[in-house]
Amino acid sequence: MGMWASLDAMWEMPAEKRIFGAVLLFSWTVYLWETFLAQRQRRIYKTTTRVPPELGQIMDSETFEKSRLYQLDKSTFSFWSGLYSEIEGTLILLFGGIPYLWRLSGRFCGYAGFGPEYEITQSLVFLLLATLFSALTGLPWSLYNTFVIEEKHGFNQQTLGFFMKDAVKKFIVTQCILLPVSSLLLYIIKIGGDYFFIYAWLFTLVVSLVLVTIYADYIAPLFDKFTPLPEGKLKQEIEVMAKSIDFPLTKVYVVEGSKRSSHSNAYFYGFFKNKRIVLFDTLLEEYSVLNKDILEESGMEPRKDGEGDSEEIKAKVKNKKQGCKNEEVLAVLGHELGHWKLGHTVKNIIISQVLSFCLTVLSRRFEFQADAFAKKLGKANDLYSALIKLNKDNLGFPVSDWLFSMWHYSHPPLLERLQALENSKQD
Ligand SMILES: [Zn+2]
Repeated sequence: MGMWASLDAMWEMPAEKRIFGAVLLFSWTVYLWETFLAQRQRRIYKTTTRVPPELGQIMDSETFEKSRLYQLDKSTFSFWSGLYSEIEGTLILLFGGIPYLWRLSGRFCGYAGFGPEYEITQSLVFLLLATLFSALTGLPWSLYNTFVIEEKHGFNQQTLGFFMKDAVKKFIVTQCILLPVSSLLLYIIKIGGDYFFIYAWLFTLVVSLVLVTIYADYIAPLFDKFTPLPEGKLKQEIEVMAKSIDFPLTKVYVVEGSKRSSHSNAYFYGFFKNKRIVLFDTLLEEYSVLNKDILEESGMEPRKDGEGDSEEIKAKVKNKKQGCKNEEVLAVLGHELGHWKLGHTVKNIIISQVLSFCLTVLSRRFEFQADAFAKKLGKANDLYSALIKLNKDNLGFPVSDWLFSMWHYSHPPLLERLQALENSKQD
């Protein structure tokens, strides 16, 4: 039966089955499109075995090959995990997994002595079971990704104990937020009358604003250690730069990202006059725990670990130092502050309602603008070398299929960013 014939058959079904069929059809269409794009990009990883000549200056062939193999492994992993979750979802729909779970939750409530009037309790048990199911089926994939793929390519810093503790903690924290919020939401829907959807929408809006406000200060510290950046040259320079563009900086933190992986990052958060900057310790050459062995060898003072749980860190001996010099860290921050000064954060929130593809296109424009901003701060040269180092430390692959890249990459390809910086370096 061809596709159009099956569509015809669909229109003759009862409404429930029609919706059911439409959901499945939509989900598989999206899945196949994403898989098609991923295969295009995979072909690039397979066939681009040499550093393209225009990249010769910025990437040695050893790093290029490492990055190529890393991306190939990642793409194999996401092919299989994607196929698994698409099939899992389809089977759950086909075999009535959702109504089954609903009946099961009803039975639990019955045992616990709740009558049928406790629909809200039943919904909560349902939610709890559904999230437990998805956490358990996702666990093997996440274990494989962390301890096989990231480990193989030298990024993983977690022990199995840390990983499991983290997963349990994440589950409990999620439930602590999800269950009270959804029971309130269900209650609002129940008593809301004809305009229940307006109250429900307002409620979710308020909840998400509250969550965004408290996340960085109260939730993220449950999982990672945030320490204020010690007084010193780097902190002073960050404060000077923030002041020069009227960025209301109140605190600079270093987060111990090295406990999870050696991938590096920097970001800022906070409302209005209370902005804070967070630097991953893996971004800072002088501060990264991963450079400890190298620093000790070279007779430099290693970073002190205040807490006793540092034995959980399996500091890897590497032959190369990871992270950026202070000037480069400042250049990366100059780019981040550019996002703030140019109002990108607010613009992103407003247009996040729009299709994600448009967002990708816009977000790339923003990346170029933020780079140009860092350049205006006189940081073109340092940003140039920082981008190269970060790409190297994170084993980013510098070549991509145009269609895949256009659909997925919120950041422009490295080479395009470097070219844009280069053009301006001469100014
Ligand atoms: Zn950016």
